[in-house]
Amino acid sequence: MTLAIYDTASREVKKIQSQSGVTSMYCCGPTVYRDAHLGNLRTFLLSDLIRRVIEVTGGEVRLIQNITDVGHMSVDVIGEDKLLAQAAAEDKDPFEIARTYEAKFHKDLELLNVKKADGYPRASETIDLMIAMINDLILKEFAYIGNDGSVYFDSKAFVSYGDLSGNRLEALKPGHRYEYSDESGKKFHADWALWKIAGERTEMIWDSPWGYGFPGWHIECSAMSMQLLQNHVNIHVGGIDLRFPHHENERAQSNAATETETVDLWVHGEHLLFEGRKMSKSSGNVVLLSDVVSRGLDPLSARLCFLENRYRSQMDLTWSALEIADAQLGKWRRKTALWGTSTELKVDPEFLEAIENDLDTPRALQRLRLIEKSQEISDSDKRAFFIYADKTLGLDLSRVVLMRDISKDQQDMLNERSVARSEKRWADSDALRLALENSGLAIKDGASGQEWSWR
Ligand code: AMP
Ligand code: ZN
Repeated sequence: MTLAIYDTASREVKKIQSQSGVTSMYCCGPTVYRDAHLGNLRTFLLSDLIRRVIEVTGGEVRLIQNITDVGHMSVDVIGEDKLLAQAAAEDKDPFEIARTYEAKFHKDLELLNVKKADGYPRASETIDLMIAMINDLILKEFAYIGNDGSVYFDSKAFVSYGDLSGNRLEALKPGHRYEYSDESGKKFHADWALWKIAGERTEMIWDSPWGYGFPGWHIECSAMSMQLLQNHVNIHVGGIDLRFPHHENERAQSNAATETETVDLWVHGEHLLFEGRKMSKSSGNVVLLSDVVSRGLDPLSARLCFLENRYRSQMDLTWSALEIADAQLGKWRRKTALWGTSTELKVDPEFLEAIENDLDTPRALQRLRLIEKSQEISDSDKRAFFIYADKTLGLDLSRVVLMRDISKDQQDMLNERSVARSEKRWADSDALRLALENSGLAIKDGASGQEWSWR
């Protein structure tokens, strides 16, 4: 069997394809004007999960994730670039803002065990690619220079507009604000800017055949994915809010430029809520990975929480779920260590079947719990199944935690109990056993004295 994932465009679960054994993937990256929150990270982890599943089953992946450092407009103020607004708020250079948050994004990915992409192109460094693509779209009569000197995509020229999101041109109402910028020079309300003339703006602008200006947000993903993935994307990943207009417009641009269907599978992750409310900066409900760490929780507990839910369902994360996940990780790591030291991998067909069936991670985790508790499976097989599963889950289950975790109090109680046993003070010995068990240890009295292990 091979991995099959739900495709937003065809509304079907489809098997993934690849060109000459390499699956090309593109994941819309962060707009680097602030820290990525756990919602953003849930989406980035979705692309890491897909990549890991393909690789663990013998495939090869080429993954590109862009860094948006220009052109993404604020939803609050018309014509305000998110980067420039943040630069003004922090009284810093916009590029300094961009590089600071980009570095923090990479740090978060590292803490979450996300494998590195093959490229993280920055929008500000890909301007020439965007200009070339816009030129091409003008030549092919999919784009035009508007009354205001900006360049716009001619949505009516692209007949299958709406195939991805279901938003047909005739249903899009004039005046619907979905571009958040002044686009008064366009011919039709659903058209969008590919290149915006600078006007009053003096920062983050570049020269172009249409004068000084800056790119629209959507063109960057078309230009980068087409250039860096040789005009074809097998799997395109992003959060559900990007389905329209960002991905609808990206599809129009890429397909018009190449005259092919450029993306095989559009994968959209559902949104994350936190304690009942949507996680977003604008609603003031934001939790960062650094907040998880400062509560003393393993950052991978967030990864485990996400895996406990289907990617296509909204999920509501809570502190208590993160605490439970943190304890679960500790337990699984201790067990994996108790089951031996072998590095052998064993594929559990039911685990794999669940994952390959549209990434049914809750069912895959349930299967792992059955393996963990099974009386029939040997310890070494349990370890081999867990290590294999972890290649896709990325939870660092073979991290060694056994010895260094015992506290001084636990050691003192073990010593005391040893003395109590030698003095035949059985009531004291039993009371100490109970206290040790409550602290997470399992105690066994064998011929060579008491032995402990983590429960
Ligand atoms: P941004 O940095 O705002 O461009 O967003 C980066 C990615 O995070 C995009 O794929 C968004 O769709 C996704 N995203 C934004 N908010 C959430 C959320 N609450 N839950 C899951 N994904 C989100
Ligand atoms: Zn994008």
